[in-house]
Amino acid sequence: MLTIVNSKPAISYLQSSEQQTLIDKCISTNALKVISRLKKANFKAYLVGGAIRDILLGKHPKDFDVATDATPEEIRKLFKNALIIGRRFQIVHIRFGREIIEVTTFRGKHEPTETNKKSKVSAISKEGMLLRDNVFGNMEEDAERRDFSVNALYLDPDKGAIYDYHNGLKDLDDRALHLIGDPDTRFKEDPVRVLRAARFVSKLDFTLDNDTIASMKAHAPLLHKISPSRLFDESLKLYNAGFGEKMFRTLCEFELLPYLLFDHKPLSDEQSLPRKLADCALKNTDKRLSEGKSITPAFIYAVFLWPTVQRLMDTHKAQDVPLFTAFHLAATEAQTLQGQLTHIPKRLQTAMREIWELQFRLTQTTPKKAERTVTHPRFRAGYDFLLLREEAGEIPTELGAFWTEYQKQHPLPEKPKKTYNTRKPRRRPNKPK
Ligand code: ATP
Ligand code: MG
Repeated sequence: MLTIVNSKPAISYLQSSEQQTLIDKCISTNALKVISRLKKANFKAYLVGGAIRDILLGKHPKDFDVATDATPEEIRKLFKNALIIGRRFQIVHIRFGREIIEVTTFRGKHEPTETNKKSKVSAISKEGMLLRDNVFGNMEEDAERRDFSVNALYLDPDKGAIYDYHNGLKDLDDRALHLIGDPDTRFKEDPVRVLRAARFVSKLDFTLDNDTIASMKAHAPLLHKISPSRLFDESLKLYNAGFGEKMFRTLCEFELLPYLLFDHKPLSDEQSLPRKLADCALKNTDKRLSEGKSITPAFIYAVFLWPTVQRLMDTHKAQDVPLFTAFHLAATEAQTLQGQLTHIPKRLQTAMREIWELQFRLTQTTPKKAERTVTHPRFRAGYDFLLLREEAGEIPTELGAFWTEYQKQHPLPEKPKKTYNTRKPRRRPNKPK
């Protein structure tokens, strides 16, 4: 399939018909546009990262990353729709409607002595963690700074050439996940790589060698040093990428749950009720994603924290706090405790609380109350949550049947479809005559 030329890096050429199919079918035209514009401006530009890995594995890429020797400022000048983001690791987002092409400048080597935390370019903590990773370099250095060999393949779409510095193509064939460089150093530099390793093992069905697994477990406690907002973003990629149920088992296997979820102990036990609920919810999320349905991260976090909310609520009720107050106190406490690990944005916290609150409202089935509950904006999520609790065996299967039947008997009027005005809005209102 690939014509391989022995050189450093190894260059593999796609055969031309195959190349055209690959490019036409799998690569985003926006990513190709970005590469072409950078090249016209005399910069180097390649497609890199997960997209090539996934295409070569016959999977559909989730997003497209471009690597270039243009600096973030130079990239921004070339694209009106570009935004420089990040401080620790500056990248440029180029937006095309709903699609974002992520463009990174080739990274270079860090001077081992540079530990100045105030530097915008390079800063390393005394534990070896990279606090700023904005030293630019060439393509070979960039390949060395990437995490896994299969993520360090560069494609030149015009030549149909894949540049492979670290045996990534062989590892793809062997289905092996190899960290580039010494695992201890690389996990210390960025402990999030521990989560990324677990994610790729699960997503790609790849193997990891025992030394890397041992190093992952040894360095996982460094995840406590990662900001709760970065950990939240990484967590979404774990649970909401279509393989959540399997991913959760991998997280348990690698003992990573304590760094991600506050009440992790019952969730690690496959026979416990909280875990059964989590499994049902993750399976449900995977199914929805495979059917192209929408999901909200609020739902899965509402599931993970529900047993905690109930436990805390019982403590308050035991001290004669009224039910409603006990619930709100418990919800706030559970979200605060979880927020110390992964920062859940406010709007999602509100949605979680509404889903929980509906669990009480759904127990009230008098005609008047039912009529009000069914029109609650979060009713559908609350009802799905109730069905999962029944499926997991937390509550008997009665209420769910009631609400299923109720919706059949009382179908809600269809929401009017939004019509979009395709005409450009006038800049100024008409002058009064
Ligand atoms: P996917 O998009 O399927 O999640 P990906 O490999 O493309 O997988 P991204 O997070 O999009 O992951 O990152 C793009 C590329 O950037 C990676 O393939 C890898 O080469 C590099 N990269 C991302 N995060 C890190 C990291 N923490 N350390 C080193 N390299 C990284
Ligand atoms: Mg990607």
